[in-house]
Amino acid sequence: MSGEDTPELPACAVIGAGVLGVCVALRLAEAGVAVTLLEQDRPGHGATRSSLAWLNANDKLPRAYHDLNYTGMRRWTELSAGLGGPVWYRPAGNIEWAASPAEQAQLIARVHRLTGYGYPAHLIGAAEVAELEPALKLPSLVDEAAWFPGEGYLNTGPLVSDLVALAVQRGATLLTGEQGRVVSLEVAGNRVRAVRTAAGHAIPVEVVVCCAGRWVPELVEMSGAACPVPLVPWATPGAVAPDGAVAAYSANPGALTLA
Ligand SMILES: Cc1cc2nc3c(=O)[nH]c(=O)nc-3n(C[C@H](O)[C@H](O)[C@H](O)COP(=O)(O)OP(=O)(O)OC[C@H]3O[C@@H](n4cnc5c(N)ncnc54)[C@H](O)[C@@H]3O)c2cc1C
Repeated sequence: MSGEDTPELPACAVIGAGVLGVCVALRLAEAGVAVTLLEQDRPGHGATRSSLAWLNANDKLPRAYHDLNYTGMRRWTELSAGLGGPVWYRPAGNIEWAASPAEQAQLIARVHRLTGYGYPAHLIGAAEVAELEPALKLPSLVDEAAWFPGEGYLNTGPLVSDLVALAVQRGATLLTGEQGRVVSLEVAGNRVRAVRTAAGHAIPVEVVVCCAGRWVPELVEMSGAACPVPLVPWATPGAVAPDGAVAAYSANPGALTLA
């Protein structure tokens, strides 16, 4: 402890400045953590750049996954309100219709399920669709559509720029390119002590948060973890991470325990 009530916060590296890494870095910086955000390319140029960034919990099952996504939607609303309505937050809503009677029955069932969850979802007629989106011409046989007013999307370029700027304002350090490309992790006593970059610098850290997207397996390998983290195809039902492959944050502050 540095003072009576002020706990000493561990120096932290966040690897990867996609949407996940910039959010984590911002929250850590806001909490007063000395955080270094490392990005091998430019912030937001991984999966985040290709994303549709559709904010929804529309067809997400099981229920816990729906709830997680719906909570995320509300957090984006809160964050954007706190920032005074930034251009990257687009709460446009979503209209969906079905092309066949069988699909229409599924859509109606989905709307009812979502309404039962307390999720904003309604069936609306063609006139209301035209009012919401005059440029949309529904197929002539469609007289009812689903309306999800709570949905929207994010414009990820300005989003990432804004959140990085905020994190830096709050004391985070951003390193990009060779300066930010992590090439090895120095591990001692089952803890990461430093991250080494392609520019040859060793940055001392007590905690590493790996937000490297599809590169996570490479980073985990650098840590000397006992078994690899596989990339699991997204469509594989019930896929689970293998036991012990993922680093665990222990009760010991700052400790990153490697399995
Ligand atoms: C086509 C497409 C459409 C999508 N549509 C949606 C959607 O509608 N809604 C939705 O919620 N999600 C959607 N997604 C998923 C969403 O985009 C991703 O879940 C999200 O962007 C992942 O963010 P991330 O920060 O985890 O990863 P990334 O954005 O991939 O960030 C990882 C970062 O780590 C960096 N990195 C890797 N290795 C190192 C290293 N050694 N040193 C330093 N930096 C490193 C990379 O350069 C990269 O910038 C979509 C994805 C795609 C591809």
